[in-house]
Amino acid sequence: MTIGNKSSTKANKLDESSSLVLVHVDVDQPQPLSIAPIVSSYNEKIRPVLDALENLRRLNIAKEGIQLPTIVVVGDQSSGKSSVLESLAGISLPRGQGICTRVPLVMRLQNHLLPQPELVLEYNGKQVLTDEANVSDAINTATEELAGTAKGISNTPLTLIVKKNGVPDLTMVDLPGITRVPVHGQPDNIYDQIKDIIMDYITPEESIILNVLSATVDFSTCESIRMSQMVDKTGLRTLAVVTKADKSPEGLLEKVTADDVNIGLGYVCVRNRIGEESYEEARNEEHKLFESHSLLSKIDKSIVGIPVLAQKLVHVQAMIISKTLPEIIKKINEKLYNSVHELKILPPNLSSLADAMSAFLHIVSLSRDSLRKILLMGEFEEYPDDKQMHCTARLVEMLNSYVSDLQNCAEIDSTKDFLMEEIVVLEEAKLIGLPNFMPRTAFLTLLQRKVKGISHMPTNFVDNVWSYLERVVISVMNRHSANYYQLQVATRRAVEHVIAKKKSNSIQHVMQAVDMEKHTDYTCNPEYLQEYNELMSHQEAFLKKVLDDDRCSSTVKLEGVDDIKVNHLIMYPINVLNQAFDLKARLIAYWKIVLRRLIDSIALHLMLSINELISNDLQKEICNELGGSVERLLEESPSISGKRQRLSSSVKVLRESKETVANIMDRIGVYGVN
Ligand code: GDP
Ligand code: MG
Repeated sequence: MTIGNKSSTKANKLDESSSLVLVHVDVDQPQPLSIAPIVSSYNEKIRPVLDALENLRRLNIAKEGIQLPTIVVVGDQSSGKSSVLESLAGISLPRGQGICTRVPLVMRLQNHLLPQPELVLEYNGKQVLTDEANVSDAINTATEELAGTAKGISNTPLTLIVKKNGVPDLTMVDLPGITRVPVHGQPDNIYDQIKDIIMDYITPEESIILNVLSATVDFSTCESIRMSQMVDKTGLRTLAVVTKADKSPEGLLEKVTADDVNIGLGYVCVRNRIGEESYEEARNEEHKLFESHSLLSKIDKSIVGIPVLAQKLVHVQAMIISKTLPEIIKKINEKLYNSVHELKILPPNLSSLADAMSAFLHIVSLSRDSLRKILLMGEFEEYPDDKQMHCTARLVEMLNSYVSDLQNCAEIDSTKDFLMEEIVVLEEAKLIGLPNFMPRTAFLTLLQRKVKGISHMPTNFVDNVWSYLERVVISVMNRHSANYYQLQVATRRAVEHVIAKKKSNSIQHVMQAVDMEKHTDYTCNPEYLQEYNELMSHQEAFLKKVLDDDRCSSTVKLEGVDDIKVNHLIMYPINVLNQAFDLKARLIAYWKIVLRRLIDSIALHLMLSINELISNDLQKEICNELGGSVERLLEESPSISGKRQRLSSSVKVLRESKETVANIMDRIGVYGVN
């Protein structure tokens, strides 16, 4: 579709030869007498399409981001917008002083062979039947309902359907006139408010701008021209109506031929109804004016008069519809597809207890599977990049650091003041008896002291492990119950409870393990004796070194530990040193067994505990926590239900829209839209 690039004068740029127009309207044909129906048989063909568009408008398809082709009437205040619409419709609209059009008025003209015109106002879901005598009041009442009784404005549209014999089938939107200075009672930002509404309507490429200009002003000073130029720089979708030709005939011809303001679709000069004239009288006066006025009669007849304007508008309307409809249909289909898809992937809405139960069990089972994978099997495909969720590896790390803490801690004691602790303890364990028995109490005293020294470590370790597991389990549960906020809260509580229980159980377990070590010194592990014997094999050499007269060698090597200072031992008798060394060897050999037990048994205990958590405890605790209220907990979160509502209403609107356009598709085919 090309507009405005073929015609000879700038004032008439419509390209009538376009093959894409919905219905061919020949603007060059002799104009019918002004009183006769403005447009004739054409109406029957375009109306179903306009009906369809009206339906789409009613469905508020713009909310889905689909713009409809619209003829938007803009103009500075009192430029004569309402008068032009009135002339086209042959009815009386509110006009006169102050701001009258305070809401967008969608005016739908329909040619009907009716003896009396039929006027219907639609707003706020209401339909109000009215007539020519009362339409002004009805519009005022409706405006007050939409925009308040003061002089404020609103963006909620009002639709006026005019069914009348001889009107063109046209849909146009009349917008509030642009005022710079707020009148009394209007908000200070009235200009911006009006500008926003106008911009909303004229910005889409699908809008044709009908710019109403008063012949009495310099067009270039018109605010409406400035606005339309902002969104339609080339002017290709702007049509100008020059009103009040009667008031300012001088220089009008020059003004419209010069086209200083770049109107791509051309100008039409008109004279509207004045005072109490009837519609017919007004058309006659207009006809006479452009026939006989010395200046106005010079203007080409193809750009004067309301009937010409009507024809042009009908033509332009057909043109934009044919241009935009295929795109609209495509967009409807696309948006419908997307919304249906989005709706589909939303979590199911749970309407019955059975639904809720099954969703709940599903969530629990998904969570269990995830936990089993990350905690027991080391399968991390669900969390490829989240190291914190690679739990088997993290657990090994925690265990290793526990092991090294234990070993390093034990090491500290064994070389400092070598044998002194043993000597002191042996001294205190003396009893009357044979000298070559190792007093067991001495061993137990030292063992208990050592165990006490590390007893906080196993507890800290399990404490840490369970805190870490709590984070992991909560994160997994949250992920699987993401769509159910209430369930998330409840499962979090349940997880906290069950982990607290598990933690205290583990702490009890390790404390018992520590107590057992304090209580009895036993192992069946042959390594104990091997190690003991190995150490004892150094006893003689060691003593020799201690007692050596040669003072230079005051250090010995033992058990991989270099340079144990032994100077302080010289003063002790040999049997005391012997016994102390023996005691030390037992302790060193046995301590390894103790540590290994505290590591192995706790590791095994934790794994069993984690396994029980996943297999039984978690589900049991969640069920306990939820009680009988599964249904309530699986209520959708507000964000999901909001989204569902939005999508459902979108889908409804789009489906209806699709049906609406499907009904006219055949016609579009017939009239050559591609
Ligand atoms: P709107 O504010 O743009 O809607 O302007 P109106 O349609 O209310 O018109 C403002 C005033 O100009 C009214 O008093 C109309 O009667 C008057 N008017 C509109 N068109 C013409 C016209 O072609 N000739 C004359 N003489 N007056 C007109
Ligand atoms: Mg008005």
